[in-house]
Amino acid sequence: MRRKETVYYNKTKEELKHELKQKAKDLGRTPRIKDIENLTLYTNGFGSWNNALIAAGFKPNPRRAPDYANLSEQELIDLVRPQLYPLIKQKEYEKIRKEFNFPSGAYLAVRMGGWNNFLLKAKIPISTTTETDEELIAMYRRLSDKLGYPAKISDLNESDEIPNYSIFNTRFDGINNLRRLAGLPHNESRPMIKDEEIQNALIFVRKKYGEIEYMELIEVLKTEGLPSARTLFIRLKADGIKHLWEIAKELEEQLNICKASDCTNKCSPRKSYCSHTCRHRESGRRRRERRIALGVCLQCGGEKDRPESDHCSECYAYFHKRYKNSTTAKMDT
Ligand SMILES: [Zn+2]
Ligand SMILES: [Zn+2]
Repeated sequence: MRRKETVYYNKTKEELKHELKQKAKDLGRTPRIKDIENLTLYTNGFGSWNNALIAAGFKPNPRRAPDYANLSEQELIDLVRPQLYPLIKQKEYEKIRKEFNFPSGAYLAVRMGGWNNFLLKAKIPISTTTETDEELIAMYRRLSDKLGYPAKISDLNESDEIPNYSIFNTRFDGINNLRRLAGLPHNESRPMIKDEEIQNALIFVRKKYGEIEYMELIEVLKTEGLPSARTLFIRLKADGIKHLWEIAKELEEQLNICKASDCTNKCSPRKSYCSHTCRHRESGRRRRERRIALGVCLQCGGEKDRPESDHCSECYAYFHKRYKNSTTAKMDT
């Protein structure tokens, strides 16, 4: 077994170049990485695959690996996304990525805060699997029994008998919860965030910021001190940002959330607003929007003399007088 390898490594650069040319003749084209059985032989001998091609007189691969560090997260996603499919495991990605000259899965995972997060950001569905929660828990228990300890994340990702950890993470929000549900030793220290808190966070963000993109959502949740986007996706079982906003709309209906655009209170049954103040504020806001759309005075709804102004001249004069009165009143005191 070892002997074969030794023979390989004994090849001179001239021999390697000759083999590349022979390969090209057989293939009728410039060899690609996937055509080569022992790539390291060439990368070690010539410094890189492209250098080996150049040395053998071929044009280097036009899809040369870009400097991934210079690419933004979105650019990285755009690069690899066409080749990704739902539920792709990091292990499976590593197999296909060489063919396309993609960055390693480990690199993507580091850049995106984990493989699961990368899939989320790339909007690759991660929560669809046919197994029920009970079946998944049973599978996890079986694997742990076999191993003799509560299976670790890496055990799940390496085993071919069980779905990737991302599936479990999506369903059960972390390995600790999974262990708790499977009746295996686990850590109780981190309390679960309540469902209500998760729902409120989502409704609050939708009201205040609208249906924003995933990356923006991450930032907003951070600045507002709310649970992470990952937690929201997992706990609400959303498999994409669009799905998440659909869930938000459904929750607002279900919980009968106040229709005022800046209020997240629940209303009594058959009421649209939680309070008179909310009703007034909202109707004022709607009137204002209507008046902006019509291009009329925001105060009285009358014709404006100057379109660039917010108010008609009458209202403007009234405001001006009041302002003057209030300042002179202040100066008097
Ligand atoms: Zn309200
Ligand atoms: Zn007016």
